[in-house]
Amino acid sequence: MQDKVKATTNTNLIEGATGEWEIIVGLEVHAQVASASKLFSGASTAFGGDPNSHVSLVDAAMPGMLPVINSECIAQAVRTGLGIKAAINLKSVFDRKNYFYPDLPQGYQISQYKQPIVGEGEVEIDVDGETMKVGIERLHLEQDAGKSIHDQHPEYSYVDLNRSGVALMEIVSKPDMRSAKQAQAYVSKLRTILRYLGTSDADMEKGNLRADVNVSVRKPDDPLGTRCEIKNVNSIRFIGQAIEVEARRQIDIIEDGGTIAQETRLFDSVKGETRSMRSKEEAHDYRYFPDPDLLPLELTQEYVDDLERGLPEMPDEKKDRFMRDFGLSDYDAGVLIAERGKADYFEKVAEGRDGKFAANWVINELFGRLNKEGLSIEASPVSAAQLGSIVDLIASDTISGKIAKDLFDIVWSEGGDPAGIVEKRGMKQVTDTGAIEKTVDEIMAANPDKVEQVKAKPNLMGWFVGQVMKASGGKANPKAVNEILKQKLGI
Ligand code: MN
Repeated sequence: MQDKVKATTNTNLIEGATGEWEIIVGLEVHAQVASASKLFSGASTAFGGDPNSHVSLVDAAMPGMLPVINSECIAQAVRTGLGIKAAINLKSVFDRKNYFYPDLPQGYQISQYKQPIVGEGEVEIDVDGETMKVGIERLHLEQDAGKSIHDQHPEYSYVDLNRSGVALMEIVSKPDMRSAKQAQAYVSKLRTILRYLGTSDADMEKGNLRADVNVSVRKPDDPLGTRCEIKNVNSIRFIGQAIEVEARRQIDIIEDGGTIAQETRLFDSVKGETRSMRSKEEAHDYRYFPDPDLLPLELTQEYVDDLERGLPEMPDEKKDRFMRDFGLSDYDAGVLIAERGKADYFEKVAEGRDGKFAANWVINELFGRLNKEGLSIEASPVSAAQLGSIVDLIASDTISGKIAKDLFDIVWSEGGDPAGIVEKRGMKQVTDTGAIEKTVDEIMAANPDKVEQVKAKPNLMGWFVGQVMKASGGKANPKAVNEILKQKLGI
């Protein structure tokens, strides 16, 4: 290629008419804080109540009502900050972000602007077998808005304030991602971290994890281009699609001689395109100022240290430990730690057993089946104790790997004690060489032509192995079968 651009470390460049382009992505993720009540009121945060059934006078912005901070939401934000290896700001300030919208009865959102509760941090992601760090710019606390409902009546719009005042953590990344895949890996890792910490359910389907995706493009080594923000993308798949179509749109405009206007856009997943919503507002448009109803929030280092001591083992640490203690590959360890429930399950199966072998069964058989049936690990019909016992039966040569799969199916659909099932249904592996020899003799006698073929071409012996295994109902010990066949065929 004659016009190949200068080599960079970015292998995610995409092709345009004028050469290769680099995509720059930064994300603002809004995660609903796991807390029974709202950020500044005692109203419930439960999902799916009747409209306006979880609304206090504060959430409805009745005159004279004052916000009272919910200390659990503060603790959750600090835990999250620690989980993303970020600096905790002992002093932070709540500001009013002023704008008008029918589902925002206060006329402003209480948020944090210049002094957020959490500063810079980082999140490690694995993409295509490589580990990279995504910088975190900040994490701040803010109120969620209510919901406008337009589709129930042609002439009216309705407002549901159940969500009004629910605590959100806005986690802002640095523009460190260079592809849709990296952005997807980042959101998925963030979700894992939030769930390990128990600081957010991070369920995108319920809308308690939403991402604003900032995308710009540039020629490698050029300064950053103008970015567009795609609002409220609500699934990991859509995040990937939105980035790809938006980058392509920007490249086409620039290559046609145009310029990118900084604006807020929407992703239409049906049409597979982004559409302009409004020109991007600047921070000064919101007339931020410190909320006079709330004092600055001051934490002690002791309080932060205390929360830090209470943190669970985080996914990255768990992964390192799994690789070290069980000899697992980076990939397998990554699959196992993606959900805390899965990691716990694996540890129960691996305890006192060969970790690698246990991991194979947990990942390939169990996760494969759960995935196929759309079940979570918590809903697994096969318990860790049952799977552990299946693994033991294989390790002790009581059953073959093939029979073990049948046994797994039985336990999956009928339950029961695996060892008892093997006993009762006669599934034990035949290691009795006398019995295997007898079967081998019979099959050789019935197939003299095959015997001659295999003697001439020993690598055709697999045919006999298959016949013997079939005749034994899969119960013959494959190692013994191979040895006896070699001996009898003179190979
Ligand atoms: Mn926000």
